[in-house]
Formats: sequence, structure tokens, C-alpha cells
Amino acid sequence: MLCAGTDTKPAGDVIRAACCAVRCRTRCRGTTVSGVDVLDDYTGHVDPGGSATRRTLDGLTVSKLSVGPMDNNAYLLTCRSTGEALLIDAANEAERLMDLVGHGADRPELRTIVTTHRHGDHWQALGAVAGATGAETIAHPVDAPGLPLPPDQLVEHGATVTVGNCLLEVIHLRGHTPGSIALLYRDGDRPHLFTGDALFPGGPGKTTSPEDFESLVGDLESRVFDQLPDETWFYPGHGDDSTLGEQRPHLQEWRQRGW
Ligand SMILES: [Zn+2]
Ligand SMILES: [Zn+2]
Repeated sequence: MLCAGTDTKPAGDVIRAACCAVRCRTRCRGTTVSGVDVLDDYTGHVDPGGSATRRTLDGLTVSKLSVGPMDNNAYLLTCRSTGEALLIDAANEAERLMDLVGHGADRPELRTIVTTHRHGDHWQALGAVAGATGAETIAHPVDAPGLPLPPDQLVEHGATVTVGNCLLEVIHLRGHTPGSIALLYRDGDRPHLFTGDALFPGGPGKTTSPEDFESLVGDLESRVFDQLPDETWFYPGHGDDSTLGEQRPHLQEWRQRGW
């Protein structure tokens, strides 16, 4: 089940399916990409088939790249003191993901690949990248059976995952899929949250029943919005980044509309 086209229903300026399809038709197809440029001008926006963008935090760097026909975001986190790296969603285009890691002697050592959830658009390159690097794969146990290879490590809510000297906290957000996870990195005063398809600018990820919606919006409230400050920067599985502060005023509106 591919999900970018169905993850969020059209809401205001968020019409993900149409926007992705148009961009992919005009920008992804028929282009041979050899190598990935990494620009240090991080805004949280990347184009399908385009350059990666990188930001440097106190403890690690975050590089974002759009891959595949569904405009999936892959995030490479590299510890600045050890050079160890962790990839969030080996979603597609294994070669471009390997280009993002780099090929020089001083490239980061990709130790870990976390899959945020079981939807197919988030793991098309998992086998290839894990096979090429020997990286350990991680997912939540509930979504693990839907993945193309069994995770080396299963993580529950509250678990921690390390990348070099940096710590990521696992937040289980139930609803888009039952085993979706987000990863939280606390860098100085500003938290950074990788949300997969559980939270986008404009609303929660797609759910297919009122129960799943209640579950997701409840987890987002109690485990994300109630716990983390407005300045928390979040990185979704498709499209642009946002902050919790930008989304917080809309929580009640999301609850009322029911999606
Ligand atoms: Zn998706
Ligand atoms: Zn999904």
C-alpha cells in the first residue's frame, strides 16, 4: 500500500496527492541522477530528484532527501563526534541514499536504519541499503511483520536508539498504522522530532476508521503536543517540515473535522 497519495486528505493548502503526482511527472521521470548534491541551506523543503539539504545541530547533522515516486523523505542523522550515522526510512532509490551517505574514505558509517512504519513507500530500498552497509534495522514490533526483512531490533514506546553519542527516543503513535513510531532528538533547548506519516503540517496522517483517528490524535496530543514545546521542529515522511507551535493552534480543528 503506497501512502503518500492517501496520507492526508486535502486540507486547505495541503493537497498532497495532486501535488506529488504533478511534481513527480514533471521532475522525477526520465532524469538520471548520478550523485546527490548536499546543500547547507536547510529550510525543510526538498524537491523530488533534487539536492539534499543539510543542517548542523550541536550533536549531529540532519540531511534530508526526497526519494521515489511518492516524494518520500529520507533523513540521514550523523553524529558529529563519532561519524556514525542512522537513516530514517530507506524509502526508495538505494543508490541515491548511498550517495547521500557518501563514498569517500571519510564518509559516515551507516550503522542503523529505522523504518517509521510498514507502508511500502517507506522501505523500498531497505534491503539494498542494509545489505550494502550491514546496518542494523529497527522497527516497532507491531509493524515488523509488514516489512520486507525482519528487523534486527524491535523498539517499543520509550525505548532509545543511539547514533554515535546522540540519543533518540522512540514515541509510539498508533493510528496511521498500529506500529508507527516517531524519533525524538533533544539538541540543547530545541527538540527535533521525526514523525514518519503520523504528523504532517496540516494534520495527522491518514487513518481509515474513526477509532484509528481517535487513537492517532490522542497519541499526538498526549505523547507529542503535551510533552514538547512550540519550538520543536518536526520532520515528516513526505513534504516540508514544520514546528509544533505552527500546528498546535489547529489541534481542536483537526479533532472536530475528524481527520
Ligand atoms: Zn508514506
Ligand atoms: Zn504511511
